[in-house]
Amino acid sequence: MTVLAVQSETVRLSSPATRPRRISVLGATGSIGENTLDLVGRDPTSFAVVALTGGRNATRLAELAVKHRAELAVVADETCYAELRARLSGTGIEAAAGADALVEAASRPADWVMAAIVGAAGLKPTLAAVRQGTCTALANKECLVSAGPIFMREVARHETALLPVDSEHSAAMQAMAGDAPESIERICLTASGGPFRSWSLADMEEVTPKQALAHPNWSMGPKVTIDSATLMNKALELIEAHHLFSVPAERLSVLIHPQSIVHCLVHYRDGSVLAQMSCPDMRTPIAYSLAWPNRMQAPTARLDLASLGALTFEAPDEDRFPALRLARHVLAAGGSASTVLNAANEVAVQAFLDGRIGFLGIAALVEATLGRSAHISATSPDSVDEVLAIDAEARAIALSQLRTFAQSAQAR
Ligand code: NAD
Ligand code: MG
Repeated sequence: MTVLAVQSETVRLSSPATRPRRISVLGATGSIGENTLDLVGRDPTSFAVVALTGGRNATRLAELAVKHRAELAVVADETCYAELRARLSGTGIEAAAGADALVEAASRPADWVMAAIVGAAGLKPTLAAVRQGTCTALANKECLVSAGPIFMREVARHETALLPVDSEHSAAMQAMAGDAPESIERICLTASGGPFRSWSLADMEEVTPKQALAHPNWSMGPKVTIDSATLMNKALELIEAHHLFSVPAERLSVLIHPQSIVHCLVHYRDGSVLAQMSCPDMRTPIAYSLAWPNRMQAPTARLDLASLGALTFEAPDEDRFPALRLARHVLAAGGSASTVLNAANEVAVQAFLDGRIGFLGIAALVEATLGRSAHISATSPDSVDEVLAIDAEARAIALSQLRTFAQSAQAR
C-alpha cells in the first residue's frame, strides 16, 4: 500500500489567507455541484469563483454563475450555447460551450477545483485540472474506474493534491491521516444497501425506475442513485479505492450499513479499527475537501447517536447484487476490464431509465459486455485517447448486447 497522493509532502497547500481562494466547479448544476456552491455561498468572502460548468441546463448554470459572480460559464452541449450567452449578456461573465471549452474551464488558473461531472465524460476536464497542478476534489469516481493508472500517473507527475469527495473515501482519508500505510491491514467501505436491500430476486425483477430513484438515505443525481440501488456504486468505489490508496483488491471489503452513518472503517494491524461517522449529507465530505488541510463550518445535521439508538451491519449478498463480484473480476483481470465495466454500466443505467431493460438487466448487461470484450479488456492503454477509444468500443458492444436482450425478451 502506498501513501495517498494527498498525503504527499509535495502537495500544494491552499493559497495564502490574504486573498479569497480561487475555485472552479465542473458539474456545477448537479447534486454535488449545487452542494459545493451552497457551502461556497455561505462564506462568499473566502472564495472567488473562476469557472462553472454544466451539461445542458443553461438556465440554472447562468443563475449560478450570476449568483456566485463566476468569471466563466461553460455548457457542455453546444446546442445550449445561445441560451447561456443570452442569459449572461450584460453580466460580464464569459459564456462558452463544447468539449474543448470544458477543458479550458478546468485549465483556468485556480487553487481548487471540484470534479463533479458524472461519468467518463468528466475524464478530460478533470485531467486538465490535475495537469495544472490544481488541488482537485474528486467526486467523479468514473475517472478512476475508467482510467485509474493513467489518472494516478498524472496526479503524481504534476504533484497534484487529489482529495476524494466520495463519502467513503473521504472517510478513509480522515481515518488514515498520519498513519504509516504499512500499518493498515484492510479498508472496509460501507454501503446503505439501497432501497432493495432486503428484496427477493423475484421482486427486484419488477423494480421501476421511479422506485430505484428513491434512495432511502442520500439525495443524489440519477446515475449514482441507480448505481447505489444495484450496488454498482460500491463496485465502482472498490475500484476507486484501489487506485486512490494503492490497495490490492484482497485488502478492500464492503459492509452493508443501512443507516449510512459510518462511512468507512480502516483496520490496523494492531487490531484497531478507525471509522469516520457523520449524518448522510454530502456537504460534510465536500467541506472536508474544500477546507483541507483545515476544517470549515458545515450546515449539516449533527450526529445524535442516542436518538439513532442502533447502528447495524451485515455482509453484502453478491447473488442478488452481482456488481460486487464484477468489480472483483475486473480488478483481478486488470488491463482495460474496468474501462469496459464503467462504459457498459453507463449504457445499462440509461437503458434501465429509458425502460429498455429491467433492474436486474443492468448487472446482466454489464456482465454480458465484459464477456464479449476480451479483445479490448486485455489491452493496457497508455493515453486518455486510447482509454476513450476503448470506452467507445465497449459502449458499442453494450448497445449490441442490449438489442440481443430486447430480442430475447420479445421472444419470451
Ligand atoms: P448529477 O447528475 O446530479 O450532476 C452531474 C453534473 O454533470 C451536472 O452538472 C450535469 O449537467 C453535468 N454533466 C452531465 N453530463 C455531462 C457531460 N456529458 N459533459 C459535461 N457535463 C455533464 O450527478 P451527481 O450526483 O452530482 O454526481 C456527480 C459525480 O459525483 C458522479 O460521478 C457521482 O458518482 C459522484 N458522487 C455523487 C454523490 C452524490 O451524493 N450526488 C456522492 C458521491 C459521489
Ligand atoms: Mg460513495
